[in-house]
Amino acid sequence: MAHPQRAALERSLTDPETFWSGHAERLHWHRKPTRALTRQSKTLPSGVQHEHWSWFPDGEISTTYNCVDRHVAGGRGDQVAIIWESPVTQTTEKYTYAQLLDEVEVLAGVLREEGVRKGDVVIIYMPMIPAALIAALAITRLGAIHAAVFGGFAAKSLAQRIEAARPRAIMTASCGIEGAKGPISYRPLVEGAVEASRFKPSKVIVWQRDQMRWNNPDKLGGQRNWQRLVKSARGRGIRAGPVPVKSTDGLYIIYTSGTTGLPKGVLREAGGHAVGLELSIQSLFGIKPGDVMFCASDIGWVVGHSYILYAPLLVGATTVLFEGKPIGTPDAGTFWRIIEKHGVNTLFTAPTAMRAIRKDDPSDRFLREIGERGGLKSLRALFLAGERSEPSIVSTYQDLLSRYAAPGALVVDNWWSSESGSPISGLALDSHAALTTKSGSNRPLAIRPGSAGLPMPGFDVRIVDDEGNEVPRGKMGNIVMALPLAPTAFTSLFQDEERFYKGYLKRFDGRWLDTGDAGLIDEDGYVHIMSRSDDIINVAAHRFSTENQGQIEQVILSHPSIGEASVVGIPDALKGHLPFAFIQPRGEGQIPATPSAKLFSEVNALVREQIGAIASLGGMIQGRGMIPKTRSGKTMRRVLRELIENAVQGKFDAVISVPPTVEDPDVIEVARGRVREYFMMKEGGKAKL
Ligand code: AMP
Repeated sequence: MAHPQRAALERSLTDPETFWSGHAERLHWHRKPTRALTRQSKTLPSGVQHEHWSWFPDGEISTTYNCVDRHVAGGRGDQVAIIWESPVTQTTEKYTYAQLLDEVEVLAGVLREEGVRKGDVVIIYMPMIPAALIAALAITRLGAIHAAVFGGFAAKSLAQRIEAARPRAIMTASCGIEGAKGPISYRPLVEGAVEASRFKPSKVIVWQRDQMRWNNPDKLGGQRNWQRLVKSARGRGIRAGPVPVKSTDGLYIIYTSGTTGLPKGVLREAGGHAVGLELSIQSLFGIKPGDVMFCASDIGWVVGHSYILYAPLLVGATTVLFEGKPIGTPDAGTFWRIIEKHGVNTLFTAPTAMRAIRKDDPSDRFLREIGERGGLKSLRALFLAGERSEPSIVSTYQDLLSRYAAPGALVVDNWWSSESGSPISGLALDSHAALTTKSGSNRPLAIRPGSAGLPMPGFDVRIVDDEGNEVPRGKMGNIVMALPLAPTAFTSLFQDEERFYKGYLKRFDGRWLDTGDAGLIDEDGYVHIMSRSDDIINVAAHRFSTENQGQIEQVILSHPSIGEASVVGIPDALKGHLPFAFIQPRGEGQIPATPSAKLFSEVNALVREQIGAIASLGGMIQGRGMIPKTRSGKTMRRVLRELIENAVQGKFDAVISVPPTVEDPDVIEVARGRVREYFMMKEGGKAKL
């Protein structure tokens, strides 16, 4: 008999109508859908035809109602919905479902008074404070669409997203608090972005934090004091009820990197998102009403949207909102202490966080200390996503969990993207939750370190060659998916159907959706994600496109002494990749491969200021005549990337595949010499990272 996780996948693919209609029953619909799925052909303005699909097309739903009101009506009003743990402000705060409903109703009333209507976009640019979650739920309550932008992005990146989303309002805070570094004022970032953007939102609503206030005067007009608006609305009894939207209407936009051009606005649809997330939190994450979920991501990323905010609340669980870092706030024991303090059942973070913790605390002193006194007994799983978990991370923590956590606790590598909205693959803790007829053992499938588990219901994952033909099990290839995608996944990009086709379907003529990842499916159906098949690099579990690399180059070139620059990814033991620059200083004469510390820190400061700390450079090599170009003058980043990747492994002489379009192959040898000199100097000849 097939394992229930395999049975659930099979049923979701062979009979999606029955499978998903059954799951839709678990939610409250303002208008019940009569169908789970419809498929139709769509013709683009360019004349291209491609398959389009809709989940629960005639249903109407309010996601906020399902996340909040429903639980209060069902008797969970006194249960804690949100625990805010903020070691950077030394605060712990709790909101019950009843309190959350009260806050969301009033804030939605405020937003309505400020002109926000169904279908409008509102940008959220916030630190990890409860107001950020309340804002998202209040926007959704009005049937409006939120677009959260990671608080670590600089003004320019925010401006790009303002232009693309054309928001009615921006909801922000006076400051963010970056680890132990203290408060960072958001004011210059937000005002700078609004000034730089051609589109001007009419309102900027500011949550005032005590650590640093955003005081008058209002330079741009339309600035509002969040707390004051709420107080006034409360005094006047202003509240807003839930406004249902069509299942296929947008719930939120999340911007993600494309290989070219502006960030892509992935549009999440309301109905499919709610149904698919409710299933994933129960089945994959094994979280039930009343359980405690701690997802240490950021609300600016898709993982935060799904597993800090929506999924735990959809199921009536408690979510831990964490304002801090895995280390340094105050130490590498933070995660484990929070688990003990709140009886956390599932921890979800990125492998990069675990690497940071291990580096800071190599003997796992904190984990063991808390584990020895039984403080981790509530923990049933550690979920890791955002990048590949190397087998050693999985085995190390699997051993520790087996010793200290709940019996049978697992480390689960799960693979997904902004586009998919929930894990495409993983190991389900409770497969029975996905099935109506429950047979067979409900024990999870065995973990296989290095693999990201089996596909989740609704995701039809295949491995194909460059022509789109499926390859045998165990063979590497492009990872693609057959249509339709599962309900949480996107069906298009925000107001950009052509780009959706070009970016995801065109490569395989509409037959498959390209994930941009490469890997294999083994004999037992486990998916192994090995690398990206495009030029995107992954920095601390976040995507960096060639466009982002190009932006960093532009910033570097704004330094007066630099004449040319090319940015590629360098493998990094902690963060997966870091941006790395090849630069050509202006002028003539001999220069060492390693630039002066002064130049490096000046350039890095420019990058941090104009793009954000996330883009900080992992290193810089200088030289003259070392940046290879095509005959049409385009930088060959791929060649430099290969040189760097080989150098990290000490392979300075490895053969590089040189494209025939190269203008001058000798330049590559100059670059090779520089790379060698740089690594020799840096590592004292060891050339290891
Ligand atoms: P994002 O949309 O920013 O969340 O990035 C999604 C990308 O991150 C995927 O396409 C993968 O390249 C990578 N990724 C996410 N999770 C994993 C994982 N568990 N293993 C390997 N790569 C992953």
